[in-house]
Amino acid sequence: MTNAFLLLVEAVGYFGLMATLFALRHRIGIGVFMTALAGLHFLETYLASVFYVAAPLGILSPGSTVLFSGKLVMLLLLYVKEDAATVRQPIYGLLVGNLLTLALVGVLRFHDVEPLPSGALPDMSFIDDMGWLMAWGTALLFVDAILIILLYEALGRVLRTSLYLRILVSVATILTFDQIGFFTVLHIVTGAPLSAFVGGWAGKMAAALVFSTMLVAYLRWFERSALPVPRGISDVFEALTYRERYHELVEQAGRDALTGLMHRGRFNEIGERGVAASLRTGRPLTLLIIDVDHFKSINDRYGHAEGDRVLVSIAARLLGEVGPTDTVFRIGGEEFAVLCSHPHALGRLLGETIRQVIGLGDGGDAPRCTVSVGVATTGPSVRSLEQLFALADKRLYLAKDGGRNRVVGESAADSWPADAGIAV
Ligand code: GH3
Ligand code: MG
Ligand code: MG
Repeated sequence: MTNAFLLLVEAVGYFGLMATLFALRHRIGIGVFMTALAGLHFLETYLASVFYVAAPLGILSPGSTVLFSGKLVMLLLLYVKEDAATVRQPIYGLLVGNLLTLALVGVLRFHDVEPLPSGALPDMSFIDDMGWLMAWGTALLFVDAILIILLYEALGRVLRTSLYLRILVSVATILTFDQIGFFTVLHIVTGAPLSAFVGGWAGKMAAALVFSTMLVAYLRWFERSALPVPRGISDVFEALTYRERYHELVEQAGRDALTGLMHRGRFNEIGERGVAASLRTGRPLTLLIIDVDHFKSINDRYGHAEGDRVLVSIAARLLGEVGPTDTVFRIGGEEFAVLCSHPHALGRLLGETIRQVIGLGDGGDAPRCTVSVGVATTGPSVRSLEQLFALADKRLYLAKDGGRNRVVGESAADSWPADAGIAV
């Protein structure tokens, strides 16, 4: 009982301090959190190799149960609140740092060591024992850290409504996987008994419960901004393995730095091609120009940085509404465009959906705003991108003149007032 209680105290203390450093990241820098995370690694390995205690469900080590499980949960927290490009830094840093530790130990043994005044000499056989554990543990941690993030993303689709279940299942699954991997080698090398597997696993499951509960509580109470929009698993994997760089560089060219959307130059290029294809095939190409209403007053009231956040959030919601073959652009400060292959009526419907979705806000604490939309489609009298743009732009201004927060297509008479709903 005392051991179980002490383990709980260690877990709460570890989480409390690490979460505090994380919560302060905007003030003191994320490096403090990352360094603290890495700084505990040596103690973690030391404990996992020699420090075992009896807990209610078997024998376990605080090194694995508290420190290792806690570190994995911290990496998950870093991913959930930041992104793959941030979390990969400690994942690779830990891998390289531990390999360096092993390499240095390899060199150290060639020293002629002076005994301390007490006659004590370093315990090299112990360092050797710890060495293999460190090598294997590090390799496992690397795999675990990447797997837990991919699993968390994959579960986002299935466990959409319960963040707690999503985190708990991710942590418990990866800790089980880790325990099997870790114990197998521990058993082969040291002949550790099966009871150590059961005890270690039970401890990790208890840790999964305790840490997941604390993590969800922390996310609910201390991290108020909305969680990022889920990303595709292959995207996350590419980022975690540093493989997105080339694609990203290629992709980034022609993109707006704030929202990541394509900018005006790409709009002209893709629009020209789209209009030419539409004329050739007779399939419609519809352009929506979306302008934020009274955006200047958002800047004036909440500041430019908050205005930027609103633009980023609008961009994300536009991407969420359009189909996979439609293209979204930021063609001006607070002006966006969508090119889609819908016929006119469907294009207006898309505009109406966008108007409503933006008007609802993003569910977070960002200021709300509305948009006006002008819609135009290629046809017998609209045969160039210039004409298409001019027509959509004219309709956008009719929407502004008509009172804003509305979608205008075809002619002014077809304008949809704000409360008209989506009845066609
Ligand atoms: P309306 O379109 O409804 O007529 O009003 P508005 O206030 O949105 O119109 P206007 O086009 O006059 O103002 C657009 C404002 O958008 C002006 C500029 O300060 C702001 N803006 C442009 N680019 C950015 C940007 O990148 N970030 C932020 N925060 N503001 C921007
Ligand atoms: Mg505007
Ligand atoms: Mg404008």
